[in-house]
Amino acid sequence: MARAYNFSAGPAILPEEVLREVQSELLDYKGTGMSVMEMSHRSKAYQEIFDETKQNLIDLLNIPDTYEVLFIQGGASLQFAMVPMNLMKNTVADYIVTGQFSKKAANEAKKYGQVNIVASSEEDKFSYIPDVSNLEISENADYVYICENNTIYGTKFKKLPDTKGKPLVADVSSCFLSEPVDVTKYGIMYGGVQKNIGPAGMSIVIIRKDLINDFVLGGTPTMLKYTTYANNDSMYNTPPTFNIYVCGKVFKWLKNLGGLKAIQKMNEDKAKVLYDFLDNSKLFKTNVRKEDRSLMNVTFVTGDEEMDKKFVSEAAKAGFENLKGHRSVGGMRASIYNAMPKAGVEALVSFMKKFEEENL
Ligand SMILES: *Cc1c(COP(=O)(O)O)cnc(C)c1O
Repeated sequence: MARAYNFSAGPAILPEEVLREVQSELLDYKGTGMSVMEMSHRSKAYQEIFDETKQNLIDLLNIPDTYEVLFIQGGASLQFAMVPMNLMKNTVADYIVTGQFSKKAANEAKKYGQVNIVASSEEDKFSYIPDVSNLEISENADYVYICENNTIYGTKFKKLPDTKGKPLVADVSSCFLSEPVDVTKYGIMYGGVQKNIGPAGMSIVIIRKDLINDFVLGGTPTMLKYTTYANNDSMYNTPPTFNIYVCGKVFKWLKNLGGLKAIQKMNEDKAKVLYDFLDNSKLFKTNVRKEDRSLMNVTFVTGDEEMDKKFVSEAAKAGFENLKGHRSVGGMRASIYNAMPKAGVEALVSFMKKFEEENL
């Protein structure tokens, strides 16, 4: 059984090595006689998995001890509410809207306080990242919010906004661990893991410790308070144990590759293959402004919807799966996360060249 080249935006490709290791440990994890998914989260064997997973993430991102790492059930969308519930002391926040996910986050925050949209690229279909070097940040803003990599549109912040001293909250779901980052620039960095790290259903929240405090908006449920996770090392209740275990394997895989500097180089090489082709193609093009291009999600079109459909369908027949663009924008999208080998991108480009010759 051959594995497809899977360009899905999420849930997405995982390293084959990791899947094979999980398979080999599935029935009997290291002589325990049981699967990780059958284990008590309070057992010694599981605690070791958990501690190692957390430590490897801390090592990969160089997370200082002024930050806490939380594993929280629910997708990234749950953070759209948890962030304001836990941070909105003045009930004011500034949002930069560069796509559907930041727009959804802003709309969710409106339930709890005043939301100021301090920059947006919506008028040009989110095809670029606005200039965020000198924004009018609200004086009493509790935080400034961005979605750092826009999964649907294929754009990425190459420079973080100047938040004028306010905590920066960033949804990094689709660029998590794709390159080195300076964690200290963020108040909160969070992401759903199903894009670049593991199975769907969990988010990792990296939060500056001073933002975890007694404040929450009235009525915030126990399970939606960051303190609940921080005070119990993410085990107030049963955490998504198997999910954390798979994430831990991916962290080890990344460490063995040489860490985030190494994966960044690989991601840049990989994305270049596709962008270089798109820049020279007579059939395909990308509408994303060059300086804002994502290394993880590459969006492109032919300019003819019927041709796009034909391409997606023929590509699938040739083993290139999930190239259809998001339903709200159409066209194509190749998500080329960490686990996508360069050979996968090269094979896709060869296929696109052939398709172009046959259809021009
Ligand atoms: C996929 C995605 C989300 C939504 O994640 P869920 O886990 O489905 O809630 C939010 N933000 C970004 C950037 C994403 O890519």
